[in-house]
Amino acid sequence: MRKKIVAGNWKMNNDLAETEMFLVDLKKQVFPENVIIMMAPPFTSLNHAFKSLREHPVELAAQNMHQSNEGAFTGEISAKMLKSVGAKTVILGHSERRAFFNEDSAVLAEKVNTALENDMGIIFCIGEELDDRKKGNHFELIKRQLSEGLFHVSDDAWENIVIAYEPVWAIGTGETASPEQAQEMHKFIRKTISESYSKAIAEKVSILYGGSVKPDNASEIFGQADVDGGLIGGASLKVDSFMKIVNSF
Ligand code: 13P
Repeated sequence: MRKKIVAGNWKMNNDLAETEMFLVDLKKQVFPENVIIMMAPPFTSLNHAFKSLREHPVELAAQNMHQSNEGAFTGEISAKMLKSVGAKTVILGHSERRAFFNEDSAVLAEKVNTALENDMGIIFCIGEELDDRKKGNHFELIKRQLSEGLFHVSDDAWENIVIAYEPVWAIGTGETASPEQAQEMHKFIRKTISESYSKAIAEKVSILYGGSVKPDNASEIFGQADVDGGLIGGASLKVDSFMKIVNSF
């Protein structure tokens, strides 16, 4: 059985006081046992959230990290620093990092290596823009993002890797990929992993869908054979909607 995961990516939202308000409410919830719940607040809230959630089954993830282990990189955060404040996992390759911070596959491949060296879990994001889909290039693009940014890792590394398929045209737009579109791409991603590695590895990798997942569409999307959960943006900012999504399997 593949791991089912729902991860909330807060992006650049919630200061410490707002994080605390969220946590007070979150800790009153009942958590399902069959789902791994992750939360990726901003760096500034990670340690507080980690300490606050010690007795609760919610893992902390970071939204980004630098590819070097240390050094003169003003403003950057290393894997070691993230681990020291409680983040077990890091989101890499989010489309916003690719688009606004010029992260290309070469940098992402380095970040992947650094995260693995530091024993961190990775949520590796891939996704096409609307234009790619309109031109029918989406499968090729996804394959390229995988092969250039991720497929240099060893077989063993896959234990620590989760894929998030986030079509850029569905992020924050209210427009979700249809369950069929999500399934079609997730199946393709699994096949691509199987061809480059093995069927056994491909069958074990959790592939999350992200892009306007909401309480009212989550169960249909999560019901698809190759969809193992979600990476949630906007709807992860409210405990009520986040927990409804967590309970959508
Ligand atoms: P939304 O759920 O707000 O569309 O964001 C998705 C996302 O980018 C999660 O990483």
